[in-house]
Amino acid sequence: MAKWGMVIDLDTCTGCQACTTACAMENNRLPGENWQDVLFYHEGTYPNVKLMWFPRPCMHCENPSCVSVCPTKATYKDPDGGFVLMDYNKCIGCKYCQVACPYGVRFYVDEKAVVQPDIRGVFPSEAGRQWDPPYKGPQDDPSRGIGIQPHGVVSKCTFCYHKVSKAPKGVADLDEDIPELKEYVPACVRVCAPKARFFGDLDQPNSNVNKMIADKRGVRLKDETGNKPQVYYLSGGATASVPSLRSMSDSDKA
Ligand code: SF4
Ligand code: SF4
Repeated sequence: MAKWGMVIDLDTCTGCQACTTACAMENNRLPGENWQDVLFYHEGTYPNVKLMWFPRPCMHCENPSCVSVCPTKATYKDPDGGFVLMDYNKCIGCKYCQVACPYGVRFYVDEKAVVQPDIRGVFPSEAGRQWDPPYKGPQDDPSRGIGIQPHGVVSKCTFCYHKVSKAPKGVADLDEDIPELKEYVPACVRVCAPKARFFGDLDQPNSNVNKMIADKRGVRLKDETGNKPQVYYLSGGATASVPSLRSMSDSDKA
């Protein structure tokens, strides 16, 4: 049984946000509902300031805090593949999961449009969904949080379950450079031009993702929470690093 995971090389990532755009298009997300995001921030003190960025998908944790707090079991860990998924039919919109997630990767978009004008007014839905854009992905599976959500539920990244779960059994890595596998690669991984993202089976010792994690000492974000993310970051060089692991300067400690 596969346990899918992602590796993101921070030394290679250019912060272009193609991953964010591809995810939004693949999954019909509303503006601001960024299941995959690139977070920008500054480091240093003026005038010695650097612009930094940090790509951040859902971590699809091994031990996800969003699952244990959900009172209706709408959020669940898929045993075949290790995805953390949502059942829109069971979600009551209490947002416990949103509060429990240490990574801020869950969205409740009913209240207020992040970007104006509200595109839901431009493409209103007559089927009880959030909106009805002219292009929609052909896959729709509310029990796995795939497709445009109804009102009153939380949404989240699915690791492109609708693609990955159809990959041939036993494949160690989903690489967009292998023609027969590229259709199964998550949208954010497939579109990354400098190839900063990799996707594979963490349960197969010989998978490329496992080798990279071992060779380049991959780290997990906020590992101290015990959530055990299935997303690893490589940050060996002098460029971006994982924020929680960065050493604090004397002024920060004061
Ligand atoms: S597409 Fe690749 S290079 Fe661009 S921001 Fe995303 S991870 Fe970084
Ligand atoms: S908002 Fe939905 S998925 Fe989240 S904890 Fe409440 S019922 Fe569960």
